[in-house]
Amino acid sequence: MLVYRLHLSNITIMKLNGNNHDTIVLTNNNKPRDIEALWAQADFMGDEHIATSADTPMRQDAFDMDDAAKMAIIEKHFAQIMQTLGLDLTDDSLMGTPHRVAKMYVKEIFHGLNPANKPKMSVFDNKFKYGQMLVEKNIGLNSTCEHHFLPIVGKAHVAYISSGKVIGLSKINRIVDYFARRPQVQERLTVQIANELRKVLQTEDVAVVIDARHMCVSSRGIQDEGSATVTAEYAGKFLDAKVKEEFLTYIGM
Ligand SMILES: [Zn+2]
Repeated sequence: MLVYRLHLSNITIMKLNGNNHDTIVLTNNNKPRDIEALWAQADFMGDEHIATSADTPMRQDAFDMDDAAKMAIIEKHFAQIMQTLGLDLTDDSLMGTPHRVAKMYVKEIFHGLNPANKPKMSVFDNKFKYGQMLVEKNIGLNSTCEHHFLPIVGKAHVAYISSGKVIGLSKINRIVDYFARRPQVQERLTVQIANELRKVLQTEDVAVVIDARHMCVSSRGIQDEGSATVTAEYAGKFLDAKVKEEFLTYIGM
């Protein structure tokens, strides 16, 4: 049985077998709500790529199951999706696809959902007393749109001004990659990277810009091949127009 769950404020909706008649709606006080209106709102939010919070919406029991168990379940369900589409799973070319997809979801593209996979961050004292901004630009970014499960591909540009702590440059790339490897919304991804840098570097002075293309915009829906989405998060000294301008000059924007 397929179970979809959505969280809209404090309401949980479960849709069973994709059939509206089987829909169960639970609210915080267990009173049924207007189901159609809620689904319409959820549909709109997904299509307009609206996120509900800066944290990735996760369930309490997200990691009760290990990776192998998750892969087995995803494999089974993905085989059903393919089967439903009418594909012949006995074909040599298709046979291994459900397993490949399951492995790719858990071990690669959604690997960043699990806090256990968060890169270890060691910070060092800023011995050189370098007090200017440090910019790490053109960091390759591969993520997945949480509304359509299609790729988001682009670049991240990150800067910080040291408050006395520094991190290895490759760690910045690892932070970007960790948060990108989740079903994402670009705005949330931008904020999550900025918040992590703030925490690790113990400074408010961070900036993150993401410039990315969404396959769900280019290959379906509006089918706009040329458009890109730019999101930015500035904090501390980067809110100052001159500092922001210096950063934008470095990244060529
Ligand atoms: Zn999308």
